Amino acid sequence: MSRYIFVTGGVVSSLGKGVSAASLGALLQSRGYSVHVRKFDPYLNVDPGTMSPLQHGEVYVTNDGFETDLDLGYYERFLGVKLSRTDSVSGGRIYWDVLNAERHGDYLGATVQMIPHVTNKIKEYIGRPTNTDFVICEIGGTVGDIEGTIFLESIRQFANDVGRKSVMFAHLTLAPYLEQSGELKTKPTQMSVRRLLESGIQADILFVRSPRMLTDEERVKIGMFCNLPAANVITSMNVDNIYKIPLVYDSQHVFDIIAAHFGLPDVAGYMAKFTKIEKYLAADLPTCTIGVVGKYFDVSDAYKSLNEALFHAGIQNNVHVKIKKINAEKFSPDDCKDVDGILIPGGFGTRGVDGKIAAAGYAREHNIPFMGICLGMQVSVIEFMRNVCGVRDANSSEFSEKCTPVVGIMSDCDTGNMGGTLRLGAYPCEIKSGSLAEKIYGTSHISERHRHRYEVDIKYKDLLEKHGMVISGLSPDGKLPEMIEIPSHKFFIAGQFHPEFQSNPFTGHPMFNAFIAAASKK
Ligand code: GLN
Repeated sequence: MSRYIFVTGGVVSSLGKGVSAASLGALLQSRGYSVHVRKFDPYLNVDPGTMSPLQHGEVYVTNDGFETDLDLGYYERFLGVKLSRTDSVSGGRIYWDVLNAERHGDYLGATVQMIPHVTNKIKEYIGRPTNTDFVICEIGGTVGDIEGTIFLESIRQFANDVGRKSVMFAHLTLAPYLEQSGELKTKPTQMSVRRLLESGIQADILFVRSPRMLTDEERVKIGMFCNLPAANVITSMNVDNIYKIPLVYDSQHVFDIIAAHFGLPDVAGYMAKFTKIEKYLAADLPTCTIGVVGKYFDVSDAYKSLNEALFHAGIQNNVHVKIKKINAEKFSPDDCKDVDGILIPGGFGTRGVDGKIAAAGYAREHNIPFMGICLGMQVSVIEFMRNVCGVRDANSSEFSEKCTPVVGIMSDCDTGNMGGTLRLGAYPCEIKSGSLAEKIYGTSHISERHRHRYEVDIKYKDLLEKHGMVISGLSPDGKLPEMIEIPSHKFFIAGQFHPEFQSNPFTGHPMFNAFIAAASKK
């Protein structure tokens, strides 16, 4: 049976529970344990797909096509695990399931109640078998939130059901620093732990977010008030890069505390993968500037996985990647004067499209390394059709009704696209032999994740290829262009999918690695 670590948070939101949970996973993996991760979000949306990226940051897509919260991206990147729709569960989904079961008569006439019906449903999701040594469950929100209470009750019961020895409660809090008195204040942490205790949950380990290391006196004090050994009070130091967190925890012997809790041998682990990143961050390396032509820049985290993938490719290429945010709505060719590469990310809606088309044209004409993602591939095809193939009114039916729709909804293809809904999740792609794509991936069968509604129309293949844009990746049935490239260009490649969702800091992603390699070649 798996062991469970529940990660809750208190005092304020945005303390980095996702990164803390992922870091615990990294410590366990470094000692040879297998790990699975799950996220429970108490809010009432049935899934995050409909939540505004303006509020919630990027929508992350799993292999099985579930639109989730960006925390799942941290888990996949840190731990290399592949998560699915049962690993991202919201309060809305729980109630939806329970109410549907009630309508279906599954409760055989019983009065349907928060306890046991809702709690049982939550416990069912928590306890889904995983075949891993550990399951780390993050509970979203902050202790004390009304909608979170039923989740706390469920994890309390879960620990009781499986036995307290198989469960560890980790709690992340904040110790604010008061400038005037030069003091770290521990009271909010005490209050938060007490609040958790009101739900019958005694924290076994505390991660206290703080601008500096807690002193021994502070840890003793917190331990005393919070009913746990001072040794289990860990500083979650503010760091400039999230990949330092596993090292911050490792240096405070967090694995030993976990091992002692579960009665496991305390073995040494090697955090070499993370130390390598730490060294890279400190190294004095050349900079490679990538112009990202987008429109969601006012929301931090809207391009989370993209920024990550560029960072990862920098590690692989021994350069520091600097992102220049270029506002597509105000695009001017001058914006590209000082960049080493141009990247057009995914996007929806007409706003900014003209700027993106112009940017793709600029990269093509000036032989600047170019990478297009999803909408970025669509605009590069539209630009090429207009300015090279001479189809002046080429466009996507997403942006214009009166145009030659070189990008449109291909409802007769096997897109899983049932009349205009999104094509979501992993799809196979066959790569053309001898292409740049084949060289980059080192294989001719790949699988990448999608999130889009429109497709480049295959009927323009011959026209595009006659003028020098090659369709280098296709769906296995040959109907959907998945990748394009321009062989005469220094580096010009785009994919209909989102490669950024599968990048990780330890190997990078082939497409991003090759793009940064091309952009950093002077
Ligand atoms: N808006 C485009 C589509 O729906 C591209 C989407 C994207 O870039 N993710 O096809």
